[in-house]
Amino acid sequence: MNKCIFCKIIERQQPAKIVYEDEEIVAIEDIRPQAPVHLLVMPRKHLPSLNEADGADAPLLGRLFAVAAHLARERQLESRGYRTVINNGPWAGQTVNHLHVHVLGGRVFHWPPG
Ligand code: 5GP
Ligand code: ZN
Repeated sequence: MNKCIFCKIIERQQPAKIVYEDEEIVAIEDIRPQAPVHLLVMPRKHLPSLNEADGADAPLLGRLFAVAAHLARERQLESRGYRTVINNGPWAGQTVNHLHVHVLGGRVFHWPPG
């Protein structure tokens, strides 16, 4: 089966700007940034979306957000604010089927998100 683009990036078969990695998680810069800071935080494990995560993945999901917050703090985003987003499925605009948290910052974001 063909590997997804994020699995290829995680396995260094495809280039990307990697900004963080540990044994479970990798974070990269988005190739088409929608804000001055736009990072993608993903598990090494290929989970297509939140739909496939189960109770056993709860610690991993928690760690994804802990890493997202760490990266946001590193970029001094915490006082002004920043946005974390997970798009799940076609109506939410998910285009890469490997679970990832967007970390967006450096500008004002509106609500509702549209
Ligand atoms: P989604 O639409 O699935 O929530 O988010 C996918 C994100 O991955 C998009 O923001 C898109 O710009 C980014 N993306 C897609 N392909 C690549 C790639 O090859 N490298 C990097 N760094 N980002 C990518
Ligand atoms: Zn994958």
